[in-house]
Amino acid sequence: MTDTTDSTEALVLVRGLTKRYGDFTAVDNIELTVPVGQVFGVLGPNGAGKTTTMRMITGLIEPTDGSIVIDDFDLNEDTVEAKKVTGFIPDRPYVYDKLTAFEYLRFIGGLYGMTHSDIADRIDELLTLFELREWSGNLIESFSHGMKQRLVFAGALLPRPRLLVIDEPMVGLDPKGHHLVKTLFRSLVEEEEMSILLSTHTLEVAEEVCDQIVIINHGHIIARGTLGELRLESGETDGTLEQVFLRITEESQDERDQSVARRFGRETDSDTGHRAEEAS
Ligand code: ATP
Repeated sequence: MTDTTDSTEALVLVRGLTKRYGDFTAVDNIELTVPVGQVFGVLGPNGAGKTTTMRMITGLIEPTDGSIVIDDFDLNEDTVEAKKVTGFIPDRPYVYDKLTAFEYLRFIGGLYGMTHSDIADRIDELLTLFELREWSGNLIESFSHGMKQRLVFAGALLPRPRLLVIDEPMVGLDPKGHHLVKTLFRSLVEEEEMSILLSTHTLEVAEEVCDQIVIINHGHIIARGTLGELRLESGETDGTLEQVFLRITEESQDERDQSVARRFGRETDSDTGHRAEEAS
């Protein structure tokens, strides 16, 4: 499916992105344009290729083919510059248990070349925002999963990235954390002109915060657009994102089953079902 988004205001341009593991193609020729100042959602069933795509965009794994440009920096050629403008929040928080929250954030600030005074001000601001201030001097090993996840958010935002890539933002967060993160996403894109690329299975969150959505299945983009556009495409004109998602992914699976069956000269349930209807 072709990406028709106007690229003049694009922060991220992904073209022909492909990842193969041996004979298996996990991500197949994906095209994405993430505009400045938008939340862009990547949805898809288990094993669709979402995490692989996000990890290629953050430079954690190398594509087999294709190009990724972030803020005019080609990730393959201007790797450090492209990574400098990108913050990443993985689905499982990777933190250093033997550091305190403050030490962890200071370490991140140092990696990004921030000045001491900027680091101190920013840490203060973010620990307050994520309600971790009173635990600033505690070792991370004593933190709950949700506290670690909030600390990872603070670390990713510390160097003021232009792009925030988030794989499953809500894992481990309590309802208050959910609310905080949803409000934060909208304020980051609307007030600070950041772009957020997020992958999630929590469709109510995607419905609430995303300006645009792509749905991936079997490594391919099978639908893209605003929720309104996806509703029209799926025929679920008043549907929730969950109903739209289920309709689009089921149709794509049916088409896939039929194409495999045709290739091997077999009939599928939906072929025989249609014939039974025609005969009656
Ligand atoms: P989920 O929603 O379950 O997290 P996902 O959409 O994030 O799924 P990926 O983790 O991107 O899916 O995986 C896409 C496909 O690539 C899966 O079939 C997975 O088994 C395969 N895959 C991922 N990493 C590797 C690897 N290192 N070696 C071989 N296959 C892999």
